[in-house]
Amino acid sequence: MALTHERAERHTIQIRKGDNVKVIAGKDAGKTGLVLSINAKRNTVVVEHVGVIKRHTRPNPSKNIKGGIVEKEGGINVSNVLVICGSCGKHARIGHNILPDGTKVRSCRHCKATLDK
Ligand SMILES: [Zn+2]
Repeated sequence: MALTHERAERHTIQIRKGDNVKVIAGKDAGKTGLVLSINAKRNTVVVEHVGVIKRHTRPNPSKNIKGGIVEKEGGINVSNVLVICGSCGKHARIGHNILPDGTKVRSCRHCKATLDK
């Protein structure tokens, strides 16, 4: 009998679309790229040129699909990427700042630069 205590990960994803991230685990470890999309449900992010999967597709003229190999970025787990701070170039440990107008923005804990534009 297997006990499967699947804890729901409650922490919110700190990564946003368009962030520059570094991959820290998996076969693409060390690569950097822009976040193309985020899947909050699956806790995955799609990073350009990272986790590229090749799909061999069969031609299907009735659906106007050309056969061949389609390269597509697959999602990787958010815990395998770190946001890179554009100001200091380090992996940002993300903190939060509240702007004078009340807007909450993400900031780099190293150099205090705001990560959100
Ligand atoms: Zn920084």
